[in-house]
Amino acid sequence: MARIDLHLHSIYSDGEFRPCEVVKFGHQKGTTALSLTDHDTVGGIPEALQTGQDLGIDIIPGIELSAYSENREIHILGYYIDWTDPRLDARLQVLRQSRHTRNREILTRLQELQFPLTYEEVKAVAGRDSVGRPHIAHLLVQKGYAANLQDAFRTFLGEGALAFVPRHLPQAREVIEWIREAGGVAVLAHPCCIKRKKEELFKYCETLRAEGLQGIEVFYSAHTPKDIRDYLEIARKLNLLVTGGSDFHGSIKPGIAVGVGRGGLKIPQTLLAPLRKAAGQDR
Ligand code: AMP
Ligand code: ZN
Ligand code: FE
Ligand code: FE
Repeated sequence: MARIDLHLHSIYSDGEFRPCEVVKFGHQKGTTALSLTDHDTVGGIPEALQTGQDLGIDIIPGIELSAYSENREIHILGYYIDWTDPRLDARLQVLRQSRHTRNREILTRLQELQFPLTYEEVKAVAGRDSVGRPHIAHLLVQKGYAANLQDAFRTFLGEGALAFVPRHLPQAREVIEWIREAGGVAVLAHPCCIKRKKEELFKYCETLRAEGLQGIEVFYSAHTPKDIRDYLEIARKLNLLVTGGSDFHGSIKPGIAVGVGRGGLKIPQTLLAPLRKAAGQDR
């Protein structure tokens, strides 16, 4: 069975590897299509497209955006976006700026707790466009302030932890609109993270669909066979597209490989045609 992977991160956000390396990993695993979905940036897409062309892999321009819906953070994936769209670029710049504001507040809290880090150090770890908590976590470990990344989140950075600062986020409705305005298809990422019973998740997805959502990420590294059955049922009943991805980051999320994920993840290539059609890319 030909397989694909539609959820991947690179150094342009909080991934460990360059876009060209991520695409090469997918090539080594025999995937036929990949989507680079960095948080709040399209900066890695030209490199991914070039490597995809060199290796004969279909690259779908993608993105992952955070949003609030019913007072909790969710992630929305955008596929087949026009990554050269200046309006999208302006919106992404605002999102990345809000990251800087929040990151600086986190560093102030850490300083108060006697765990000083400079923002120059954090930016040096991040390297490219989107700077976030994983980069701060990495530095906390490097400095010996935390035992590992999990510990850094548990002690300092996770929701409710000592240096946690909420980020100003747009509403899901807005994020979905931005993706669609840029010609993309809006998909709910990792529904397992919403932690709701099937019936509640159904209602949640129904609300998001009314706000323009077009698909859900049914296949995902953390999804159990039961999750997959439940989400397939929700997708069918709500006429939502089905997508899948590993959420590969490198060592930030250990045990996940491009195209293979974790736990025997297999994302069939057959998911791609309906997605492409929804994006109007099938002509
Ligand atoms: P940010 O985008 O800056 O809010 O950081 C959120 C990212 O941090 C998520 O996309 C995850 O990749 C990562 N993350 C969140 N919680 C944890 C955790 N407990 N352990 C490791 N990584 C986490
Ligand atoms: Zn990430
Ligand atoms: Fe996510
Ligand atoms: Fe992700």
